[in-house]
Amino acid sequence: MSAHSLPEGAVVWHSLEVDKALDLLDSNADRGLTPQEVEQRLQKYGTNELEEHGGRSPWQILLDQFTNIMLLMLIGVALISGFLDFWALRQGTLKVGEVPFKDTIAIMAIVVLNGILGYVQESRAEKALAALKKLSSPSVRIIRNGKLADVAGKELVPGDVMLLEAGVQISADGRLIEQSNLQVRESALTGEAEAVNKQAVLTLPEDAALGDRINLVFQGTEVVQGRAKVLVTNTGMTTELGKIATMLQSVDSEPTPLQQRMTQLGNVLVSGSLILVAIVVVGGIIQARGFSNLQDLLEVSLSMAVAVVPEGLPAVITVTLALGTQRMVRHHALIRKLPAVETLGSVTTICSDKTGTLTQNKMVVQSVYTNQKAFRVTGEGYTPEGDFQLDGQKIDLDENPEISALLVACAVCNDSVLQKEAGVWAILGDPTEGALVTLAGKAGIEKDQWQSKLPRVSEFPFSSERKRMSVICQAEAVATGEPAMNGVDPVIAGFLESEQYLMFTKGSPELTLARCTEIYVGDTSTPINEEQRTQILAANDQMASQGLRVLGFAYKPLSEVPPEASEDTSENGLVWLGLVGMLDAPRPEVRASVAECRQAGIRPIMITGDHQLTARAIALDLGIADADARVLTGQELQRMTDQELEEQVDLVSIYARVSPEHKLRIVQALQRRGRFVAMTGDGVNDAPALKQADIGIAMGITGTDVSKEASDMVLLDDNFATIVAATKEGRVVYTNIRRFIKYILGSNIGEVLTIAAAPLMGLGGVPLTPLQILWMNLVTDGLPALALAVEPPEPDVMQRPPFSPRESIFARGLGAYMVRIGIVFAIISIALMSWAYNYTHAAGYPGNPDTWKTMVFTTLCIAQMGHAIAIRSNNQLTIEMNPFSNLFVLGSVIVTTILQLMLIYVPPLRAFFGTHELSLSELGICIGFSALMFVWIEGEKIFFRLIGKKTV
Ligand code: ATP
Repeated sequence: MSAHSLPEGAVVWHSLEVDKALDLLDSNADRGLTPQEVEQRLQKYGTNELEEHGGRSPWQILLDQFTNIMLLMLIGVALISGFLDFWALRQGTLKVGEVPFKDTIAIMAIVVLNGILGYVQESRAEKALAALKKLSSPSVRIIRNGKLADVAGKELVPGDVMLLEAGVQISADGRLIEQSNLQVRESALTGEAEAVNKQAVLTLPEDAALGDRINLVFQGTEVVQGRAKVLVTNTGMTTELGKIATMLQSVDSEPTPLQQRMTQLGNVLVSGSLILVAIVVVGGIIQARGFSNLQDLLEVSLSMAVAVVPEGLPAVITVTLALGTQRMVRHHALIRKLPAVETLGSVTTICSDKTGTLTQNKMVVQSVYTNQKAFRVTGEGYTPEGDFQLDGQKIDLDENPEISALLVACAVCNDSVLQKEAGVWAILGDPTEGALVTLAGKAGIEKDQWQSKLPRVSEFPFSSERKRMSVICQAEAVATGEPAMNGVDPVIAGFLESEQYLMFTKGSPELTLARCTEIYVGDTSTPINEEQRTQILAANDQMASQGLRVLGFAYKPLSEVPPEASEDTSENGLVWLGLVGMLDAPRPEVRASVAECRQAGIRPIMITGDHQLTARAIALDLGIADADARVLTGQELQRMTDQELEEQVDLVSIYARVSPEHKLRIVQALQRRGRFVAMTGDGVNDAPALKQADIGIAMGITGTDVSKEASDMVLLDDNFATIVAATKEGRVVYTNIRRFIKYILGSNIGEVLTIAAAPLMGLGGVPLTPLQILWMNLVTDGLPALALAVEPPEPDVMQRPPFSPRESIFARGLGAYMVRIGIVFAIISIALMSWAYNYTHAAGYPGNPDTWKTMVFTTLCIAQMGHAIAIRSNNQLTIEMNPFSNLFVLGSVIVTTILQLMLIYVPPLRAFFGTHELSLSELGICIGFSALMFVWIEGEKIFFRLIGKKTV
């Protein structure tokens, strides 16, 4: 570090002149800090990070696990079972060889295990979410060592010089060095919704309130408009935001729709089982005409209560969602809000921006139109090499002063930087502007040189609403006749007449032309006539209908710098310069994605700020609309009532020249028509539409921080194809969740009915102990269910219509399936139970008469294996599927079957689980009965196929 000592304590930055502040922090407004200075300051001040607070404490997450009604019921069962064992011990009625409190311990162990599992999963999910949040955290444009660079927000140190523009979320506190039209929304800090106008030159009294410190900017606030250069004064926990710990964004942990549905499901199951228990107990008492079998009935009730709870389900669901999120990241879709993983599958309409999402956002200028002549421009990418041609012949630029004048406007009215990185020409900033710098470079007009010749003194920045921008430059040096550059200076001198300042405007051609009263021809300006206007608009249409993005250029000599916020009056009476048309080729992969969307019943819609003909040409090329498709423009939309718009939204697939507020109206109209809308956005003003959409999607590369903050999902590659891929993943996740819920709950219903049937059939005793039931619910149901969660997509996943996000979990036959399969399951096991009971109680049976219980246990478990294999597809028969396409299912079935056999054949396990050894023929009979389950489900598929019903 220099000898300079940096401030240790609090400095009242808003009362300091800029130069004093720069001095104090030993920084330089043009050069910023050197890498060594940054390194030293990182050591001294630490990284620019807020300590994460908020979210739930680990204890709270753990406690929350035990508020689940199903776990509470299990705890109740454990206590009652413990009490019964205690009673039997005291009475000396414990059966020989029985370990007391085994069930209680096992159930409590499961409860604790479930709690811990839930805890681990949830805290992992919270951490993962926090990490995702960090990943999508803003980067900052700064000046270091005299060069522009983008760095992660956490790398900022006091003394850094950062550049702000509209849409940026500010990463540190700072003192304004200079600004233009800067407006900042500070609601995160002050609660004030209205944006604040900032000023750099002021110094303020020491006691100015936070909201009045208009020469400072604060971390966590958002730039709504304008641009600024800022000296970073405070980072990390010393910022205003850092000071208010409670303001820190807590991790979003609202329950997902699925979690809510699961809670409902728990309530239904628990109350259903309690009713069933009551029926069995009352029925049993009536049957026995007294309380003689009360203990049996109690045991049955306990077993039923354990059987109904799908102990493995919560863990399986959490794992599925986590895996879904990971798979989406692999497809470059970053999920910011967990519910999006499930709800993405329900999208019916995708509203997408054009530039960058449907197209590559790699702009190359192809034509220039000026003075009634259309010139072709050659060259590739951002390399500033190429020719200007007229009718196939290279032209001499000196003979076409209008082109040079237009190119100066391209270079000066521009915020992008063209630089060579590792031998390749690349741009920093907006690609549209990058293409213009490249274009100017092709004629030897270099942006840097021209910007120092015509230094910018003010500007009216670009916004999607205005669709134009202007810069005001000081032009005295040129006017006084410095040496000519490429023959341009005399032209500029011609622009100026006797004025000192020049304003250059560029923007949408129609709007810019409408503000022109003169036209630049030869080297002078003359009033523009109607014929010229018509010709220019025709040239614009001609370029646009080829899919080119067209910008119009104009200038205006000024005698003084216009005041801020006077754009509407100042940007009038302009002198027209010409048109520039650039090609932004569609992304090649999008065509296939659009086709996939259509097949999947999802309607892609293009919403763009660009010209209607450009929009139509690109939409046609991509298959979003056909040749006679109607294009609705922002102007038309503006005149429509909400009702009229609602009547149109299902018919229109292209919206052109729209402003961000139109996007909001379009989403709302679509939603009123019952559509489930995914909407992309990148600008600061897109945030309301993103919030309103069912899935708000921000652009990872070009998106502003504000749009990311408002979104549910961020596209890391800005690509439309990624939205479609994520939608597909969403469908797969939801289908798999439904699949294993069907699988698990069908089995639970079967178990409960079988247990209830035993006493009613007068078989004496409960066929399954709580321990065995827990084993089934956790292992024989749990392992294959986990495997089903990673089931690859069925081939037709994108060929069927989207599911309604509001549908109940039991919709589309799921509830009926569960009950039907549960009953089939119960019939099979009750038939087996009845046979086995009689068989094991027949005279001369060599084994233990209770062996029938082990046969019921084994049949239930093995039948579930057949269920797991068959349920992989709703419609395809198992023999039609590749058995190796989900090795997990195959593996889990094999492992679970082996474990089940171990419970019967390994003596210590047999003793612990209270099973009896089965002879080979008994085992064979169990397997035979179990196979009926598989046969039934396959039979159902054939039946549904014959009657032409497709289940999804
Ligand atoms: P999309 O909404 O699909 O991303 P877009 O990029 O054309 O389309 P905007 O960025 O809102 O949407 O631009 C709207 C219009 O504003 C453009 O069609 C163009 O005419 C004009 N425009 C775009 N960028 C600039 C710029 N940097 N300076 C001046 N005008 C611009």
